[in-house]
Amino acid sequence: TDASQVVGRFAPSPTGALHFGSLVTAVGSYCLAKSAGGLWLLRMEDLDGPRVVPGAADEILHTLEALTLHWDGEVLYQSRRTACYEAALERLREDGHIFPCACSRKEVLASAPHRGEEGPIYAGTCRNGLPVGREARAWRMRVPHRSVGFCDCLSGEYRQCLASEVGDFVLRRADGLFAYQLAVVVDDAESGVTQVVRGADLLSSTPRQIYLHQCLGYPLPCYAHLPLVMTPDGEKVSKRHGTVSLDSSGGGRLIWKALRFLGQAVPAELLNASPAEVLSWGAKYFDGTKVPKVQC
Ligand code: GLU
Repeated sequence: TDASQVVGRFAPSPTGALHFGSLVTAVGSYCLAKSAGGLWLLRMEDLDGPRVVPGAADEILHTLEALTLHWDGEVLYQSRRTACYEAALERLREDGHIFPCACSRKEVLASAPHRGEEGPIYAGTCRNGLPVGREARAWRMRVPHRSVGFCDCLSGEYRQCLASEVGDFVLRRADGLFAYQLAVVVDDAESGVTQVVRGADLLSSTPRQIYLHQCLGYPLPCYAHLPLVMTPDGEKVSKRHGTVSLDSSGGGRLIWKALRFLGQAVPAELLNASPAEVLSWGAKYFDGTKVPKVQC
């Protein structure tokens, strides 16, 4: 791959089969990468063992294949990459970016100065050393008192003050698992991803991830957050609301609906076309300016 090549990706968590919301992300990330002549990688975010549903990863891969959402290269499984996360954490430790934390969930809650959008803000109890007689449980990232911002490719400026809105966040949990925030950054950087396209529910994670990219000396990808599919009651669509099932069109209609949801003027004549035909329209004509903007 040359340096100017767009490299996109889709990174589902195998906690169940694909639902319409995750299909929208798959189709959006695929079309944005392919319309730029880029690659589209696939990463299985199966790091959180307890939440992984047996068989879900294979089911997701089969559905993507049936929909002709063909990925480039090998599937990357996060569960096989702990040595890489370990190495990144060690670099952060050497550079003084992380600290061991002894606080239990209860203590964090009780001492939080206020509750942020993402949960309680860490009070900084262990920031300058473990309290006497306490043992480290987790590792936390030391965040700066300044705002970290970026310009979303589709929706514009988004800024967040990491210290007051998020707080020092966990990179390695008490149970030894690496946090999503670290794994995503290490994987995107090591896979050469240049274009991160995902649901708007992850918008508030992006400043943390940008800060991690910076501290690890990785180049920054560009970010595009897609609107979330909501139920009529205004709830985010999830696996509970039913998973994607292929109809007589072999799923062409699903892709068609995903493209329409993303504001694309996909022709009505393609409603009964095959997945490959609808997708090739998307890969050719996808127009990022037509995607409904998310609230930044
Ligand atoms: N695995 C995450 C999810 O399914 C997506 C992570 C990402 O795209 O950065 O919500």
